[in-house]
Amino acid sequence: MFDTHELGRRPGALQRLTKTIEAPKDLGIQGVVGVPEGAPVELELRLESVMEGVLVTGTARASAEGECVRCLEPLELELEADFQELFSYPDADDRGRVIAEPGDDAEDDEDRFFLEDGLFDLEPLLRDAVVLALPMQPVCREDCPGLCSECGVRLADDPDHHHDAVDIRWAALQGLAGTMTDGEKDEMSGAEAGVDEKQEK
Ligand SMILES: [Zn+2]
Ligand SMILES: [Zn+2]
Repeated sequence: MFDTHELGRRPGALQRLTKTIEAPKDLGIQGVVGVPEGAPVELELRLESVMEGVLVTGTARASAEGECVRCLEPLELELEADFQELFSYPDADDRGRVIAEPGDDAEDDEDRFFLEDGLFDLEPLLRDAVVLALPMQPVCREDCPGLCSECGVRLADDPDHHHDAVDIRWAALQGLAGTMTDGEKDEMSGAEAGVDEKQEK
């Protein structure tokens, strides 16, 4: 919650403030990437008093943690999220006129934010801004080669990794048997035979 009492209600009044808050729970894209709960979030805010309320413009900076969608390694990225929203006085309509019964048009009010006793809640705004600023498919680096589609090894650890165009079921056997030929393959019952064959040569 942020206080606008110091700002006052005179249109045109400005207030800038910086504040570090602790990240609320589930700040980010759930299960993909987000700011850990309790981690510092630096806020830079500019409050401007306007006719119908307080216009809040700001930037949030934090470190987000997640997992690379290609290679599944943990990753950390610096997040910068901009936001702007008008918090209306509960007794004013869009043009700042005082209305008799605030909130009687519930549907219209759904997308609007209101000041409550001069206070506003930044959290919903922060959540939306953070989600928009985060990548839906975070990668550890732009050219992350990901995992081998055949054996799942991390290709970044092993750039020359490749498989010959053989049936995947023979791949393990072939690795043990070394220079085995097609003819010999039929005579052998398994990996053990392959090793023996190699030693004889
Ligand atoms: Zn990666
Ligand atoms: Zn592989």
